[in-house]
Amino acid sequence: MLLISSVPIQTRRFVTLATNDSYARGAMVLGKSLRNHKTTRKLVVMIGPHVSDPLQRGASKIFDEVLLVDVLDSGDRAHLALMKRPDLGVTFTKLHCWTLTHYSKCVFMDADTMVVQNVDELFDREELSAAPDPGWPDCFNSGVFVFRPSNETYGKLLKYCTEHGSFDGGDQGVLNGYFSNWATADISKHLPFIYNLSSIAIYTYLPAFKQYGGNAKVVHFLGQTKPWSYTFDPETKRISGDMQEASTHPTFLLDWWMLYSSSVVPMMTEGYGEQPFHSGCVEVSLEGSSASQDPHHTEPYVSPQASEERKQKWEQGQADYMGMDSFDNIQKKLDAFLK
Ligand code: UDP
Ligand code: MN
Repeated sequence: MLLISSVPIQTRRFVTLATNDSYARGAMVLGKSLRNHKTTRKLVVMIGPHVSDPLQRGASKIFDEVLLVDVLDSGDRAHLALMKRPDLGVTFTKLHCWTLTHYSKCVFMDADTMVVQNVDELFDREELSAAPDPGWPDCFNSGVFVFRPSNETYGKLLKYCTEHGSFDGGDQGVLNGYFSNWATADISKHLPFIYNLSSIAIYTYLPAFKQYGGNAKVVHFLGQTKPWSYTFDPETKRISGDMQEASTHPTFLLDWWMLYSSSVVPMMTEGYGEQPFHSGCVEVSLEGSSASQDPHHTEPYVSPQASEERKQKWEQGQADYMGMDSFDNIQKKLDAFLK
């Protein structure tokens, strides 16, 4: 008898999600950061129906696959589950990643994450691998996790979700409830914290950040204030936003904006023929930002000269985060960028 062994096709993907334009911007920065750090894997973004056309077009330039997901249209099970728990709309959409069964293993990354080193080795891990949550380390943070798409798991997750809800109102509560033995069962499923370095940890354990922060592989802008929450004031040439509430280390915020303004904005403005640069900028400008009225100043921007001195000052709690004294340098860089 001839035995033909069926070798499973290994298809592995990075997956993210954006249900609106703001998160779509974040997703593009994430995608670009993965590419810049030379991932060998393909990239998938699930987008909701409310993401606008320019952002969808931009996404298709960075991601190998742009999947339109609308949980309401995605089959009876999801639909029914959502009807019972309308409060968990985005959560259901995120769980949708388990339906990507044409891939064998995936790494989900929140749209508010950014890669600062190659992380392809994450595919060596098994479901469900994730890093500890900084607020409650017996829970994992669901901003970065390794999973295996499976309709069976998806069905079980939906069932769990509708029966038990989410203890924190979001996907992290559901996933921790479902994968409840994560904390104790298998240490190999604990990703090192550097794969999901959230800013809150910087503030709560600064010496550890000083010691290990340089090894960071993924930065996660978790919490209410996202990089796109900041705005740029062309008059004062300053970043505005509540810096006391700063959800991240200024250097990482700078890195995010560098990538956004240098790589993502141009992608969204390509294909607009002879239209001036600012047409595209207006389309992608931040809601409520005064920057949108000024074609030359589209984005908040911070000095890339995150000097030692500035860093030290910050670490001493002297919160002149954006190093405004060096803004002339910033301006020169910015001009060079936008030329
Ligand atoms: N998300 C989305 N639209 C929303 C809220 C969330 O697409 O309105 C997606 C996005 O990928 C986001 C993830 O769900 O990164 C989790 O939400 P968020 O990052 O805001 O939560 P946090 O990490 O701050 O707890
Ligand atoms: Mn997040």
